[in-house]
Amino acid sequence: MKYDQLLKEKFKLEAFRGVQKEVLDKLLSGVSVFSLMPTGTGKSLCYQMIAFLQPPQEMVLVVSPLIALMQDQVLKARDLGLKAACINSSLSFEERAKVLKRMASKDLDILFVTPERFKKLEFLEALKQVKISLFVVDEAHCASLWGHDFRPEYSQLGKFIQLCESPLVLALTATATPVVQKEVCQILNLSYPQAMILGGIERTNIAIHVTETYGQEEKFEAIFKDLLAQPNLASGIVYFSLIQTLEKFSQFLQTKKIVHTKYHGDLPAHVRRKNQNNFIKDIDNLILATPAFGLGVDKSNIRFVYHAEIPSTLESYFQEIGRGGRDGKLSQATLFYDQEDVSIQMQFLDWAYPEAEFIKKVYDLIHTYPEKVSMEGYDFLREQMVFKNRKDYRVNAAVSILNRWGSLAEADTPFGYLAVTEPEEELFKKENQNILKKEHQKKLLEILRWAKNTEHCRMNEIYKYFGYDHAPCGLCDTCRGDELASHD
Ligand code: ADP
Ligand code: MG
Repeated sequence: MKYDQLLKEKFKLEAFRGVQKEVLDKLLSGVSVFSLMPTGTGKSLCYQMIAFLQPPQEMVLVVSPLIALMQDQVLKARDLGLKAACINSSLSFEERAKVLKRMASKDLDILFVTPERFKKLEFLEALKQVKISLFVVDEAHCASLWGHDFRPEYSQLGKFIQLCESPLVLALTATATPVVQKEVCQILNLSYPQAMILGGIERTNIAIHVTETYGQEEKFEAIFKDLLAQPNLASGIVYFSLIQTLEKFSQFLQTKKIVHTKYHGDLPAHVRRKNQNNFIKDIDNLILATPAFGLGVDKSNIRFVYHAEIPSTLESYFQEIGRGGRDGKLSQATLFYDQEDVSIQMQFLDWAYPEAEFIKKVYDLIHTYPEKVSMEGYDFLREQMVFKNRKDYRVNAAVSILNRWGSLAEADTPFGYLAVTEPEEELFKKENQNILKKEHQKKLLEILRWAKNTEHCRMNEIYKYFGYDHAPCGLCDTCRGDELASHD
């Protein structure tokens, strides 16, 4: 077969992995696919392969949610010998024009875009000039309101696929519950379950442990004890929900002379980048991070992923611990669970999904006081809205929602945004923050129930959540019957 040869010659690989071949066979027989494959197992290979096999005039179009990951995807495709490019808001006008020109003159094998691109006329014009062999939706769970990373632009993709004259579609994700799978198929006009190829989500080298603690002091000591038990120079992440707790723990580690680095939103971008690189290159072995850390971090030798605070969904938890042990060797995943931490997550949910009235008021402020907002930004807005409670980030959530809805445009000011059009009632209905919040609260309840369970295999309980059922993992605390730190 032709693609077996390509696999050796272009990809320098011996054999397909998991369901890669099944996905390719189905695509090559002309049927669209929605495939679930574990992170790091090679989803990209499926569409890169099509980019080699397509007629020379055609192009693979990949919709991807994150600008940060795109450059990396372009470089990887170029390494393989594909003519690859991306278009996103980080490019200059000239750079964008150049890519559009290459696209219209059929000089690209593969193009990466964010879904927002379909709102731009010049992109749609260029799109008309080229035949799309495969329309790829990477991180397809983002299309579902019930997924853990909802991106409203993703829910428009069905329309955009039609706009491209309904080419073959390949939707990809590592995590989607059956409910999410069904909804994504609906949005992308794929037939459910016929389009599904489930590559499984099983990770057989992660040992989960839940340690229940009471109070911060006890928790810090417990994490410290576990860190000491790790082999010298083992790479690991400790995740925190709150920057404040992360910083406190960092100070605690300093008093214990434990070398570590940090990654969170209060650090300047260049420091974050440097710290991330030092971790990836094994210069630092321990990183304390908020959940923003890890997406697209391709590091195979992570030996432990600890959670100092419980994440708000099992989806996030599974994704985060899944960063451990990519090399196939054992990785330890420990959740340090304190009942008190649940209230942090509850509070987060209240803030993440502000009321319609709140969002409208933030818009009005940005619209009415453009100069003040441009210069003083969030400080001014917060002062008006939440009386300087710096921790309350409803204002940030509202701004990000308004930006997503197109009510704000990015601007070259300290604040970064300008008001353009008032959000329509339609949007408040379509993306009802109260409904979203309730759904998220249900998920929080699920992960709590999961953490409290001391009977069933922890890993298999996660698989069940995603609609699979496997044999007990044999590695987690419940499988091994460890003395549990649970005091019922
Ligand atoms: P993801 O599924 O997370 O998108 P990637 O597509 O980025 O994963 O691939 C992760 C790594 O797996 C890459 O380094 C890639 O070269 C490698 N890979 C892909 N397919 C195979 C294979 N069949 N055999 C071995 N390695 C593979
Ligand atoms: Mg990927």
